[in-house]
Amino acid sequence: MDTDVLVVGAGPTGLMLTHELRVAGVSAVVVDRLPERSELSRAGGVHPRTMEVLDQRGLLEPLLATGDYPVSPGHFAGRLFDPADHDSRLPGRFIPQTVVEDFLTDRLAGHGVGVRRAHELVGLAADEDGVTATLRHGSTTRTVRSAFLVAADGAHSTVRRLLGIAFPGRPGTDTALVADVRLRDTRPSRPAAAGQSHTTAADGSWAMQFPLGGDLRRLALGGPAHSLPREIPVTEEEIRAGLRTVYGPGVDLVEQRYTYRITNAARQVADYRHGRVFLAGDAAHIHLPIGGLGMNTGLQDAVNLGWKLAAAVHGWAPQGLLDSYQSERHPVAAGVLRIVQAQSLLMDWAGTGGPDVAATRELFDTLLQLPDTRRHLAARMAGLDIRYPMPGAPGHPLLGRRAPDLDLTGAQGPVRLHALLRAGRGLLLDPSGGSDLAAVARGWKDRVDRVPTSTATDALLIRPDGHVCWAAAQPYPSEPLAGALRRWFGEG
Ligand SMILES: Cc1cc2nc3c(=O)[nH]c(=O)nc-3n(C[C@H](O)[C@H](O)[C@H](O)COP(=O)(O)OP(=O)(O)OC[C@H]3O[C@@H](n4cnc5c(N)ncnc54)[C@H](O)[C@@H]3O)c2cc1C
Repeated sequence: MDTDVLVVGAGPTGLMLTHELRVAGVSAVVVDRLPERSELSRAGGVHPRTMEVLDQRGLLEPLLATGDYPVSPGHFAGRLFDPADHDSRLPGRFIPQTVVEDFLTDRLAGHGVGVRRAHELVGLAADEDGVTATLRHGSTTRTVRSAFLVAADGAHSTVRRLLGIAFPGRPGTDTALVADVRLRDTRPSRPAAAGQSHTTAADGSWAMQFPLGGDLRRLALGGPAHSLPREIPVTEEEIRAGLRTVYGPGVDLVEQRYTYRITNAARQVADYRHGRVFLAGDAAHIHLPIGGLGMNTGLQDAVNLGWKLAAAVHGWAPQGLLDSYQSERHPVAAGVLRIVQAQSLLMDWAGTGGPDVAATRELFDTLLQLPDTRRHLAARMAGLDIRYPMPGAPGHPLLGRRAPDLDLTGAQGPVRLHALLRAGRGLLLDPSGGSDLAAVARGWKDRVDRVPTSTATDALLIRPDGHVCWAAAQPYPSEPLAGALRRWFGEG
Protein backbone atom coordinates (compact mmCIF):
# COMPACT_ATOMS: atom_id res chain seq x y z
CA MET A 1 0.00 0.00 0.00
CA ASP A 2 1.16 3.55 -0.75
CA THR A 3 -1.10 4.84 2.01
CA ASP A 4 -3.80 3.50 4.31
CA VAL A 5 -6.50 5.83 3.06
CA LEU A 6 -6.71 7.97 -0.08
CA VAL A 7 -9.05 10.90 0.42
CA VAL A 8 -10.30 12.42 -2.83
CA GLY A 9 -11.29 16.05 -2.36
CA ALA A 10 -9.89 18.71 -0.03
CA GLY A 11 -13.14 20.44 0.79
CA PRO A 12 -14.22 20.58 4.45
CA THR A 13 -15.27 16.90 4.46
CA GLY A 14 -12.01 15.54 3.01
CA LEU A 15 -9.83 17.78 5.18
CA MET A 16 -11.67 16.88 8.39
CA LEU A 17 -11.58 13.20 7.55
CA THR A 18 -7.86 13.32 6.87
CA HIS A 19 -7.38 15.08 10.19
CA GLU A 20 -9.38 12.39 12.00
CA LEU A 21 -7.29 9.67 10.37
CA ARG A 22 -4.04 11.35 11.36
CA VAL A 23 -5.23 11.84 14.96
CA ALA A 24 -5.98 8.10 14.99
CA GLY A 25 -2.46 7.33 13.77
CA VAL A 26 -3.36 6.22 10.25
CA SER A 27 -1.56 7.34 7.11
CA ALA A 28 -3.65 9.30 4.64
CA VAL A 29 -3.12 11.14 1.38
CA VAL A 30 -5.55 13.88 0.40
CA VAL A 31 -5.72 15.06 -3.21
CA ASP A 32 -7.67 17.80 -4.94
CA ARG A 33 -7.93 18.62 -8.61
CA LEU A 34 -7.92 22.37 -7.98
CA PRO A 35 -4.47 23.99 -8.02
CA GLU A 36 -5.64 26.43 -5.30
CA ARG A 37 -8.38 26.42 -2.70
CA SER A 38 -11.66 27.69 -4.18
CA GLU A 39 -12.27 31.41 -3.52
CA LEU A 40 -16.04 30.94 -3.60
CA SER A 41 -17.27 31.58 -0.05
CA ARG A 42 -20.04 28.91 -0.02
CA ALA A 43 -21.03 27.78 3.49
CA GLY A 44 -21.03 30.58 6.04
CA GLY A 45 -21.68 29.01 9.40
CA VAL A 46 -20.58 26.36 11.86
CA HIS A 47 -23.44 24.92 13.91
CA PRO A 48 -23.39 24.05 17.62
CA ARG A 49 -22.86 20.29 17.15
CA THR A 50 -20.01 20.90 14.72
CA MET A 51 -18.53 23.38 17.21
CA GLU A 52 -18.65 20.60 19.81
CA VAL A 53 -17.06 18.11 17.44
CA LEU A 54 -14.23 20.56 16.70
CA ASP A 55 -13.89 21.24 20.41
CA GLN A 56 -13.59 17.50 21.12
CA ARG A 57 -10.42 17.45 19.03
CA GLY A 58 -9.02 20.67 20.48
CA LEU A 59 -9.61 22.46 17.16
CA LEU A 60 -12.19 25.01 18.24
CA GLU A 61 -10.07 27.40 20.28
CA PRO A 62 -7.37 27.77 17.61
CA LEU A 63 -10.04 28.13 14.90
CA LEU A 64 -11.79 30.93 16.79
CA ALA A 65 -8.41 32.59 17.39
CA THR A 66 -7.98 33.09 13.62
CA GLY A 67 -10.54 35.91 13.44
CA ASP A 68 -13.64 37.58 14.78
CA TYR A 69 -16.63 35.37 14.04
CA PRO A 70 -20.03 36.65 15.18
CA VAL A 71 -22.48 34.32 16.89
CA SER A 72 -24.98 32.87 14.44
CA PRO A 73 -28.39 32.23 16.03
CA GLY A 74 -29.41 29.77 13.31
CA HIS A 75 -32.89 29.70 11.86
CA PHE A 76 -35.68 27.47 10.67
CA ALA A 77 -37.43 28.61 7.50
CA GLY A 78 -36.07 32.11 8.09
CA ARG A 79 -37.29 32.34 11.72
CA LEU A 80 -34.26 33.04 13.91
CA PHE A 81 -33.60 31.03 17.08
CA ASP A 82 -32.61 32.50 20.44
CA PRO A 83 -29.39 31.28 22.10
CA ALA A 84 -31.59 29.68 24.82
CA ASP A 85 -33.19 27.41 22.19
CA HIS A 86 -29.92 25.46 21.85
CA ASP A 87 -28.92 22.83 24.39
CA SER A 88 -25.16 23.39 24.00
CA ARG A 89 -22.63 25.58 25.71
CA LEU A 90 -21.18 26.44 22.31
CA PRO A 91 -23.23 28.76 20.08
CA GLY A 92 -22.97 28.48 16.30
CA ARG A 93 -20.86 31.09 14.57
CA PHE A 94 -20.58 32.72 11.17
CA ILE A 95 -17.32 31.17 10.02
CA PRO A 96 -16.88 31.10 6.23
CA GLN A 97 -16.08 27.76 4.61
CA THR A 98 -12.86 29.22 3.20
CA VAL A 99 -11.68 29.89 6.78
CA VAL A 100 -12.54 26.35 7.86
CA GLU A 101 -10.68 24.91 4.86
CA ASP A 102 -7.56 27.05 5.43
CA PHE A 103 -7.57 26.21 9.11
CA LEU A 104 -7.85 22.46 8.58
CA THR A 105 -5.18 22.60 5.86
CA ASP A 106 -2.83 24.27 8.36
CA ARG A 107 -3.60 21.69 11.02
CA LEU A 108 -2.89 18.91 8.58
CA ALA A 109 0.43 20.51 7.74
CA GLY A 110 1.12 20.31 11.49
CA HIS A 111 0.58 16.55 11.18
CA GLY A 112 2.99 16.44 8.26
CA VAL A 113 0.24 16.04 5.64
CA GLY A 114 0.16 18.43 2.71
CA VAL A 115 -2.84 18.61 0.39
CA ARG A 116 -1.72 17.35 -3.02
CA ARG A 117 -3.26 19.99 -5.24
CA ALA A 118 -3.69 19.79 -9.00
CA HIS A 119 -4.05 16.03 -8.59
CA GLU A 120 -7.22 14.82 -10.27
CA LEU A 121 -8.66 11.38 -9.79
CA VAL A 122 -9.33 9.96 -13.25
CA GLY A 123 -9.45 6.20 -12.71
CA LEU A 124 -10.40 3.74 -10.01
CA ALA A 125 -10.21 -0.02 -9.56
CA ALA A 126 -11.26 -1.61 -6.28
CA ASP A 127 -10.72 -5.22 -5.25
CA GLU A 128 -10.99 -7.22 -2.04
CA ASP A 129 -7.64 -6.04 -0.67
CA GLY A 130 -7.53 -2.41 -1.65
CA VAL A 131 -8.16 0.35 -4.14
CA THR A 132 -5.96 1.51 -7.00
CA ALA A 133 -6.58 5.12 -7.99
CA THR A 134 -5.20 6.83 -11.06
CA LEU A 135 -4.31 10.47 -10.54
CA ARG A 136 -3.53 13.03 -13.21
CA HIS A 137 -1.06 15.75 -12.32
CA GLY A 138 -0.28 18.07 -15.21
CA SER A 139 0.71 15.88 -18.12
CA THR A 140 1.63 12.89 -15.96
CA THR A 141 -0.48 10.16 -14.42
CA ARG A 142 0.40 7.88 -11.53
CA THR A 143 -1.39 5.24 -9.51
CA VAL A 144 -1.86 5.19 -5.75
CA ARG A 145 -2.72 1.99 -3.93
CA SER A 146 -4.58 2.32 -0.62
CA ALA A 147 -6.49 0.07 1.75
CA PHE A 148 -9.52 2.39 1.56
CA LEU A 149 -10.63 5.33 -0.56
CA VAL A 150 -13.03 8.04 0.54
CA ALA A 151 -14.92 10.06 -2.04
CA ALA A 152 -15.12 13.55 -0.56
CA ASP A 153 -15.13 14.97 -4.06
CA GLY A 154 -18.29 17.00 -3.88
CA ALA A 155 -21.64 17.22 -5.60
CA HIS A 156 -20.29 16.21 -9.03
CA SER A 157 -18.26 13.34 -7.59
CA THR A 158 -15.88 11.64 -10.03
CA VAL A 159 -15.84 8.55 -7.80
CA ARG A 160 -19.60 8.22 -8.19
CA ARG A 161 -19.24 8.46 -11.96
CA LEU A 162 -16.31 6.03 -12.17
CA LEU A 163 -18.11 3.42 -10.05
CA GLY A 164 -21.48 3.99 -11.75
CA ILE A 165 -23.14 4.92 -8.45
CA ALA A 166 -26.58 6.49 -8.97
CA PHE A 167 -27.45 9.80 -7.29
CA PRO A 168 -31.21 9.53 -7.02
CA GLY A 169 -33.48 12.35 -5.96
CA ARG A 170 -35.15 15.41 -7.28
CA PRO A 171 -33.64 17.53 -10.04
CA GLY A 172 -33.54 21.29 -9.49
CA THR A 173 -36.76 23.02 -10.52
CA ASP A 174 -35.87 26.57 -9.48
CA THR A 175 -32.73 28.60 -8.91
CA ALA A 176 -31.71 31.51 -6.70
CA LEU A 177 -28.57 33.61 -6.91
CA VAL A 178 -25.89 33.92 -4.28
CA ALA A 179 -23.17 36.56 -4.34
CA ASP A 180 -20.39 37.84 -2.09
CA VAL A 181 -21.02 41.57 -2.00
CA ARG A 182 -20.31 44.88 -0.40
CA LEU A 183 -23.44 47.00 -0.01
CA ARG A 184 -24.09 50.71 0.51
CA ASP A 185 -26.30 51.19 3.58
CA THR A 186 -27.10 47.83 5.06
CA ARG A 187 -30.06 49.46 6.87
CA PRO A 188 -32.79 48.89 4.35
CA SER A 189 -36.04 50.83 4.22
CA ARG A 190 -37.79 47.43 4.35
CA PRO A 191 -35.57 45.38 6.69
CA ALA A 192 -36.16 41.80 7.72
CA ALA A 193 -38.86 41.69 10.40
CA ALA A 194 -37.68 41.13 13.97
CA GLY A 195 -36.69 37.51 14.48
CA GLN A 196 -36.46 36.74 10.77
CA SER A 197 -33.43 36.20 8.56
CA HIS A 198 -35.21 36.78 5.25
CA THR A 199 -37.06 39.74 3.76
CA THR A 200 -39.84 39.03 1.29
CA ALA A 201 -41.36 41.45 -1.23
CA ALA A 202 -44.91 41.47 -2.54
CA ASP A 203 -43.92 39.90 -5.87
CA GLY A 204 -42.43 36.82 -4.14
CA SER A 205 -38.81 38.03 -4.33
CA TRP A 206 -36.80 37.45 -1.16
CA ALA A 207 -33.31 38.22 0.11
CA MET A 208 -31.10 37.24 3.00
CA GLN A 209 -27.58 38.21 4.08
CA PHE A 210 -24.94 36.98 6.45
CA PRO A 211 -21.48 38.34 7.33
CA LEU A 212 -18.32 36.96 5.70
CA GLY A 213 -15.84 39.13 7.63
CA GLY A 214 -15.14 42.87 7.42
CA ASP A 215 -17.82 44.55 5.32
CA LEU A 216 -18.11 41.61 2.95
CA ARG A 217 -21.51 39.90 3.05
CA ARG A 218 -23.11 36.89 1.47
CA LEU A 219 -26.31 37.84 -0.29
CA ALA A 220 -28.92 35.39 -1.54
CA LEU A 221 -31.71 36.61 -3.81
CA GLY A 222 -34.58 34.41 -4.91
CA GLY A 223 -38.10 34.36 -6.26
CA PRO A 224 -39.44 34.31 -9.84
CA ALA A 225 -37.25 37.21 -11.05
CA HIS A 226 -34.08 35.31 -10.11
CA SER A 227 -35.06 31.76 -11.05
CA LEU A 228 -33.00 31.69 -14.23
CA PRO A 229 -31.06 28.91 -15.95
CA ARG A 230 -27.69 28.42 -14.28
CA GLU A 231 -25.72 29.24 -17.42
CA ILE A 232 -27.09 32.81 -17.48
CA PRO A 233 -24.46 34.94 -15.74
CA VAL A 234 -25.46 37.01 -12.73
CA THR A 235 -25.17 40.71 -13.57
CA GLU A 236 -24.81 43.79 -11.37
CA GLU A 237 -28.13 45.01 -12.77
CA GLU A 238 -29.90 41.85 -11.60
CA ILE A 239 -28.48 42.21 -8.09
CA ARG A 240 -29.32 45.96 -7.95
CA ALA A 241 -32.89 45.35 -9.15
CA GLY A 242 -33.33 42.52 -6.63
CA LEU A 243 -32.02 44.67 -3.75
CA ARG A 244 -34.39 47.52 -4.72
CA THR A 245 -37.41 45.22 -4.98
CA VAL A 246 -36.82 43.55 -1.62
CA TYR A 247 -35.26 46.26 0.56
CA GLY A 248 -36.34 49.48 -1.15
CA PRO A 249 -34.11 52.21 -2.56
CA GLY A 250 -31.91 52.52 0.55
CA VAL A 251 -29.66 49.59 -0.32
CA ASP A 252 -27.34 49.44 -3.31
CA LEU A 253 -24.48 47.34 -4.56
CA VAL A 254 -20.93 48.64 -4.13
CA GLU A 255 -19.02 45.57 -5.25
CA GLN A 256 -19.86 42.04 -6.30
CA ARG A 257 -17.22 39.36 -6.03
CA TYR A 258 -18.25 35.78 -6.61
CA THR A 259 -21.68 34.98 -7.97
CA TYR A 260 -23.41 31.67 -8.48
CA ARG A 261 -26.86 30.25 -9.17
CA ILE A 262 -27.90 27.50 -6.77
CA THR A 263 -30.70 25.03 -7.48
CA ASN A 264 -33.14 23.20 -5.24
CA ALA A 265 -31.94 19.78 -6.41
CA ALA A 266 -32.08 17.22 -3.56
CA ARG A 267 -30.22 13.95 -3.98
CA GLN A 268 -28.67 11.21 -1.87
CA VAL A 269 -26.80 8.03 -2.77
CA ALA A 270 -28.45 4.84 -1.53
CA ASP A 271 -25.25 3.24 -0.22
CA TYR A 272 -22.44 5.18 1.42
CA ARG A 273 -20.17 2.12 1.21
CA HIS A 274 -19.06 0.25 -1.91
CA GLY A 275 -16.60 -2.33 -0.62
CA ARG A 276 -13.47 -0.38 0.26
CA VAL A 277 -14.81 2.88 -1.12
CA PHE A 278 -16.88 5.24 1.06
CA LEU A 279 -18.77 8.38 0.10
CA ALA A 280 -19.01 11.42 2.38
CA GLY A 281 -20.20 15.03 2.31
CA ASP A 282 -21.65 16.47 -0.89
CA ALA A 283 -20.51 13.38 -2.81
CA ALA A 284 -23.21 11.51 -0.85
CA HIS A 285 -25.94 14.14 -0.42
CA ILE A 286 -26.92 17.53 -1.83
CA HIS A 287 -29.72 19.95 -1.03
CA LEU A 288 -30.45 23.66 -0.84
CA PRO A 289 -28.21 25.50 1.63
CA ILE A 290 -31.20 26.70 3.72
CA GLY A 291 -29.99 26.84 7.30
CA GLY A 292 -26.41 26.02 6.31
CA LEU A 293 -26.56 22.25 6.72
CA GLY A 294 -24.22 21.24 3.85
CA MET A 295 -20.76 21.80 5.30
CA ASN A 296 -21.89 20.81 8.80
CA THR A 297 -23.29 17.47 7.65
CA GLY A 298 -20.11 16.74 5.70
CA LEU A 299 -17.85 17.55 8.66
CA GLN A 300 -19.90 15.25 10.86
CA ASP A 301 -19.84 12.46 8.24
CA ALA A 302 -16.05 12.72 8.45
CA VAL A 303 -15.97 12.44 12.23
CA ASN A 304 -18.28 9.41 12.15
CA LEU A 305 -16.22 7.63 9.49
CA GLY A 306 -12.67 8.54 10.50
CA TRP A 307 -12.24 6.44 13.66
CA LYS A 308 -14.01 3.47 12.06
CA LEU A 309 -11.62 3.42 9.09
CA ALA A 310 -8.71 3.83 11.49
CA ALA A 311 -9.97 0.85 13.53
CA ALA A 312 -10.07 -1.24 10.36
CA VAL A 313 -6.54 -0.17 9.41
CA HIS A 314 -5.26 -0.94 12.92
CA GLY A 315 -6.89 -4.35 12.66
CA TRP A 316 -9.27 -4.17 15.64
CA ALA A 317 -12.51 -3.09 13.94
CA PRO A 318 -15.29 -5.41 15.10
CA GLN A 319 -17.65 -6.91 12.54
CA GLY A 320 -20.18 -4.40 11.33
CA LEU A 321 -18.27 -1.30 12.45
CA LEU A 322 -17.58 -0.03 8.93
CA ASP A 323 -21.19 -0.72 7.92
CA SER A 324 -22.45 1.35 10.85
CA TYR A 325 -21.28 4.42 8.89
CA GLN A 326 -24.18 3.76 6.50
CA SER A 327 -26.75 2.90 9.17
CA GLU A 328 -25.83 5.98 11.22
CA ARG A 329 -25.12 8.68 8.66
CA HIS A 330 -27.53 7.86 5.82
CA PRO A 331 -30.62 8.55 7.96
CA VAL A 332 -29.08 11.82 9.20
CA ALA A 333 -28.65 13.23 5.69
CA ALA A 334 -32.05 11.85 4.61
CA GLY A 335 -33.51 13.85 7.51
CA VAL A 336 -31.54 16.92 6.40
CA LEU A 337 -32.99 16.66 2.89
CA ARG A 338 -36.51 16.45 4.32
CA ILE A 339 -36.12 19.36 6.71
CA VAL A 340 -34.62 21.51 3.95
CA GLN A 341 -37.54 20.69 1.64
CA ALA A 342 -40.04 21.56 4.37
CA GLN A 343 -38.31 24.91 4.92
CA SER A 344 -38.16 25.67 1.23
CA LEU A 345 -41.96 25.28 1.12
CA LEU A 346 -42.59 27.30 4.30
CA MET A 347 -40.29 30.09 3.15
CA ASP A 348 -41.79 30.01 -0.33
CA TRP A 349 -38.27 29.69 -1.73
CA ALA A 350 -39.60 29.61 -5.29
CA GLY A 351 -41.63 32.78 -4.62
CA THR A 352 -45.01 31.47 -5.76
CA GLY A 353 -46.68 34.01 -3.46
CA GLY A 354 -49.67 31.65 -3.10
CA PRO A 355 -52.22 32.19 -0.29
CA ASP A 356 -51.84 28.57 0.89
CA VAL A 357 -48.18 29.18 1.67
CA ALA A 358 -49.00 32.40 3.53
CA ALA A 359 -51.65 30.62 5.62
CA THR A 360 -49.29 27.73 6.45
CA ARG A 361 -46.53 30.15 7.40
CA GLU A 362 -48.88 32.08 9.66
CA LEU A 363 -49.87 28.87 11.43
CA PHE A 364 -46.27 27.84 11.70
CA ASP A 365 -45.28 31.18 13.21
CA THR A 366 -47.83 30.57 15.97
CA LEU A 367 -46.36 27.14 16.66
CA LEU A 368 -42.89 28.66 16.81
CA GLN A 369 -43.93 30.70 19.83
CA LEU A 370 -43.95 27.44 21.81
CA PRO A 371 -40.62 26.88 23.57
CA ASP A 372 -40.74 23.10 22.96
CA THR A 373 -41.23 23.60 19.22
CA ARG A 374 -38.35 26.05 19.08
CA ARG A 375 -36.05 23.75 21.03
CA HIS A 376 -37.01 20.76 18.88
CA LEU A 377 -36.31 22.57 15.62
CA ALA A 378 -33.16 24.26 16.95
CA ALA A 379 -31.76 20.86 17.96
CA ARG A 380 -32.66 19.43 14.56
CA MET A 381 -31.01 22.28 12.64
CA ALA A 382 -27.94 22.30 14.89
CA GLY A 383 -27.35 18.54 14.76
CA LEU A 384 -27.82 18.34 18.53
CA ASP A 385 -30.67 15.80 18.31
CA ILE A 386 -28.71 13.13 16.41
CA ARG A 387 -29.21 9.71 17.97
CA TYR A 388 -27.50 6.76 16.36
CA PRO A 389 -29.10 3.32 16.64
CA MET A 390 -27.29 1.18 19.22
CA PRO A 391 -28.29 -2.38 18.41
CA GLY A 392 -28.28 -4.78 21.33
CA ALA A 393 -27.96 -2.09 23.98
CA PRO A 394 -30.62 -1.62 26.67
CA GLY A 395 -32.49 1.68 26.88
CA HIS A 396 -30.86 4.71 28.49
CA PRO A 397 -31.72 8.30 27.57
CA LEU A 398 -28.14 9.03 26.46
CA LEU A 399 -27.57 5.91 24.35
CA GLY A 400 -26.64 6.86 20.80
CA ARG A 401 -26.67 10.55 21.64
CA ARG A 402 -23.74 12.94 21.96
CA ALA A 403 -22.04 12.74 25.33
CA PRO A 404 -22.97 15.68 27.57
CA ASP A 405 -20.10 18.11 28.07
CA LEU A 406 -19.94 17.49 31.83
CA ASP A 407 -17.61 19.38 34.12
CA LEU A 408 -15.69 16.62 35.83
CA THR A 409 -13.45 16.59 38.83
CA GLY A 410 -10.60 14.23 38.11
CA ALA A 411 -7.24 13.44 39.65
CA GLN A 412 -5.71 16.37 37.71
CA GLY A 413 -8.41 18.87 38.77
CA PRO A 414 -11.49 20.15 36.88
CA VAL A 415 -11.81 19.05 33.26
CA ARG A 416 -14.58 19.09 30.65
CA LEU A 417 -15.62 15.70 29.36
CA HIS A 418 -15.35 16.79 25.69
CA ALA A 419 -11.72 17.79 26.27
CA LEU A 420 -10.97 14.17 27.16
CA LEU A 421 -11.76 13.11 23.58
CA ARG A 422 -8.84 15.07 22.05
CA ALA A 423 -6.76 12.01 21.23
CA GLY A 424 -9.65 10.42 19.32
CA ARG A 425 -9.81 7.40 21.63
CA GLY A 426 -12.76 5.76 23.37
CA LEU A 427 -13.62 6.88 26.89
CA LEU A 428 -15.10 5.07 29.85
CA LEU A 429 -16.50 7.47 32.41
CA ASP A 430 -16.47 5.42 35.59
CA PRO A 431 -18.23 6.68 38.71
CA SER A 432 -18.40 3.18 40.27
CA GLY A 433 -15.48 3.73 42.60
CA GLY A 434 -15.05 -0.04 42.60
CA SER A 435 -12.84 -2.38 40.68
CA ASP A 436 -15.28 -4.33 38.41
CA LEU A 437 -15.54 -1.85 35.53
CA ALA A 438 -11.84 -1.07 35.83
CA ALA A 439 -10.96 -4.76 35.56
CA VAL A 440 -13.09 -5.17 32.41
CA ALA A 441 -11.79 -1.96 30.81
CA ARG A 442 -8.18 -3.01 31.34
CA GLY A 443 -8.48 -5.38 28.36
CA TRP A 444 -9.09 -2.40 26.02
CA LYS A 445 -6.67 0.10 27.54
CA ASP A 446 -4.82 0.54 24.24
CA ARG A 447 -8.08 1.92 22.68
CA VAL A 448 -10.21 3.17 25.56
CA ASP A 449 -9.26 5.54 28.39
CA ARG A 450 -10.95 4.91 31.72
CA VAL A 451 -11.70 8.09 33.65
CA PRO A 452 -12.71 7.54 37.29
CA THR A 453 -15.00 10.34 38.45
CA SER A 454 -17.19 11.24 41.36
CA THR A 455 -19.06 13.93 39.39
CA ALA A 456 -21.16 11.78 37.05
CA THR A 457 -23.79 9.40 38.39
CA ASP A 458 -24.06 7.04 35.41
CA ALA A 459 -21.21 5.10 33.82
CA LEU A 460 -20.79 6.01 30.13
CA LEU A 461 -18.83 4.39 27.34
CA ILE A 462 -18.15 7.02 24.70
CA ARG A 463 -16.90 6.41 21.17
CA PRO A 464 -14.13 8.56 19.66
CA ASP A 465 -16.79 10.58 17.77
CA GLY A 466 -18.35 11.62 21.08
CA HIS A 467 -21.44 9.39 20.97
CA VAL A 468 -22.50 7.29 23.95
CA CYS A 469 -22.50 3.58 23.07
CA TRP A 470 -23.16 2.12 26.53
CA ALA A 471 -24.56 3.59 29.72
CA ALA A 472 -25.49 2.17 33.10
CA ALA A 473 -26.72 3.39 36.44
CA GLN A 474 -25.77 1.89 39.79
CA PRO A 475 -24.87 -0.94 40.44
CA TYR A 476 -22.86 -0.60 37.18
CA PRO A 477 -22.95 -4.16 35.84
CA SER A 478 -19.62 -5.08 34.28
CA GLU A 479 -20.74 -7.91 31.94
CA PRO A 480 -22.77 -5.63 29.62
CA LEU A 481 -19.79 -3.26 29.53
CA ALA A 482 -17.62 -6.07 28.20
CA GLY A 483 -20.23 -6.71 25.49
CA ALA A 484 -20.33 -3.04 24.48
CA LEU A 485 -16.53 -2.81 24.40
CA ARG A 486 -16.42 -5.83 22.11
CA ARG A 487 -19.19 -4.46 19.88
CA TRP A 488 -17.52 -1.07 19.34
CA PHE A 489 -13.82 -1.62 20.06
CA GLY A 490 -13.23 -5.23 18.98
CA GLU A 491 -11.76 -8.02 21.06
CA GLY A 492 -9.85 -6.91 24.14
C1 LIG B 1 -22.38 28.75 -4.25
C2 LIG B 1 -22.54 27.84 -3.10
C3 LIG B 1 -23.08 28.34 -1.93
C4 LIG B 1 -23.23 27.50 -0.84
N1 LIG B 1 -23.73 28.02 0.30
C5 LIG B 1 -23.81 27.24 1.39
C6 LIG B 1 -24.26 27.77 2.62
O1 LIG B 1 -24.61 28.95 2.72
N2 LIG B 1 -24.32 26.93 3.68
C7 LIG B 1 -23.95 25.60 3.60
O2 LIG B 1 -23.95 24.86 4.58
N3 LIG B 1 -23.52 25.09 2.46
C8 LIG B 1 -23.44 25.87 1.36
N4 LIG B 1 -22.99 25.34 0.21
C9 LIG B 1 -22.68 23.91 0.19
C10 LIG B 1 -21.32 23.64 0.81
O3 LIG B 1 -20.36 24.44 0.17
C11 LIG B 1 -21.01 22.16 0.66
O4 LIG B 1 -21.98 21.43 1.39
C12 LIG B 1 -19.62 21.80 1.13
O5 LIG B 1 -18.64 22.41 0.32
C13 LIG B 1 -19.43 20.29 1.07
O6 LIG B 1 -18.11 19.99 1.37
P1 LIG B 1 -17.40 18.73 0.71
O7 LIG B 1 -16.03 18.74 1.28
O8 LIG B 1 -18.25 17.54 0.91
O9 LIG B 1 -17.37 19.01 -0.85
P2 LIG B 1 -16.65 20.19 -1.63
O10 LIG B 1 -16.49 21.37 -0.77
O11 LIG B 1 -17.40 20.37 -2.90
O12 LIG B 1 -15.20 19.64 -1.93
C14 LIG B 1 -14.97 18.69 -2.91
C15 LIG B 1 -13.55 18.83 -3.42
O13 LIG B 1 -13.27 17.74 -4.28
C16 LIG B 1 -12.47 18.20 -5.34
N5 LIG B 1 -12.63 17.27 -6.47
C17 LIG B 1 -13.73 17.07 -7.23
N6 LIG B 1 -13.47 16.13 -8.15
C18 LIG B 1 -12.19 15.72 -7.97
C19 LIG B 1 -11.36 14.77 -8.62
N7 LIG B 1 -11.78 14.06 -9.66
N8 LIG B 1 -10.10 14.61 -8.19
C20 LIG B 1 -9.63 15.34 -7.13
N9 LIG B 1 -10.40 16.26 -6.49
C21 LIG B 1 -11.65 16.44 -6.91
C22 LIG B 1 -13.02 19.58 -5.63
O14 LIG B 1 -12.06 20.38 -6.30
C23 LIG B 1 -13.34 20.09 -4.24
O15 LIG B 1 -12.29 20.85 -3.68
C24 LIG B 1 -22.84 26.14 -0.91
C25 LIG B 1 -22.29 25.65 -2.09
C26 LIG B 1 -22.14 26.48 -3.17
C27 LIG B 1 -21.54 25.93 -4.43
